[in-house]
Amino acid sequence: MNWITNYVRPKINSLFSRREVPENLWTKCPECGTMLFHRELAENLNVCSNCDHHMAITPRDRFKALFDGGIFVEVKVPEPLADPLQFKDQKRYPERMKSAQKATGEKEAMLVAEGEVLRTPIVAAAQNFAFMGGSMGMYVGNAFVAGARRAVELKRPFVVFAAAGGARMQEGILSLMQMPRTTVAIEMLKEAGLPYVVVLTHPTTGGVTASYAMLGDVQIAEPNALICFAGPRVIEQTIREKLPEGFQRAEYLLDHGMLDRVTHRKNLRDELVTILRMLTNLPPAIKGDLPPADPQPIEEPEAPAA
Ligand SMILES: [Zn+2]
Repeated sequence: MNWITNYVRPKINSLFSRREVPENLWTKCPECGTMLFHRELAENLNVCSNCDHHMAITPRDRFKALFDGGIFVEVKVPEPLADPLQFKDQKRYPERMKSAQKATGEKEAMLVAEGEVLRTPIVAAAQNFAFMGGSMGMYVGNAFVAGARRAVELKRPFVVFAAAGGARMQEGILSLMQMPRTTVAIEMLKEAGLPYVVVLTHPTTGGVTASYAMLGDVQIAEPNALICFAGPRVIEQTIREKLPEGFQRAEYLLDHGMLDRVTHRKNLRDELVTILRMLTNLPPAIKGDLPPADPQPIEEPEAPAA
């Protein structure tokens, strides 16, 4: 050990490891290819300012933008058995879980919270497409049931933001069992006379569409969201016919009576409040005296090492 190893080498290392501008400062719109600055994109609730494409938004960011002052309390979700089938494809299921948790900073694919939206008390659940495609396994089932139970307990409406590639194949039949389970939970809300509203986001597919995502008292979708059971490619290959333009997209489903509304993300909060207050016999919300919901705070990129 001498001054070269102790002092000079770390200094040289730090000079050469100095990072370039992090790539994640800019996001490319998958629809129109425009490069969008991360801060503006976040302020715009992850909607492309050029083509209005609604990109995925994390449940946490959605809740921060939805609830008054960005304040909400998470509803505790009972922990299911981890890896019940000891499933392994190219990777073991627990390894996939670990990398999804690391990538998203979340425990699982659904977040449940209670709070107020324009002073309208609600319980909400949101699915995280970034977490293993938002897939519905036992945890998502538990989260949904916990949210519905909490809504009944507090006598509040239950709002679900759906986004999913379908059921979680790593949990096999146990993930499919979440379809009847969540359906029963919705019945519980109906019996309690509480509204259940679904917001379908891009994409909502598979077993999720075949259960709780299509059972809302009011069905809202974000613009151009793909909503289907089997995707357009699968159908095209099966029937060997070209599908019409916009097939299985939100606007198409609205035209064909599958949805009640297609609502831009920036208007969603007001619209939800209007619908929920109407359904629960509350007077219209007063907007004037409320602080607007926080746009999600952006973490500053780390300063490069000196
Ligand atoms: Zn775009």
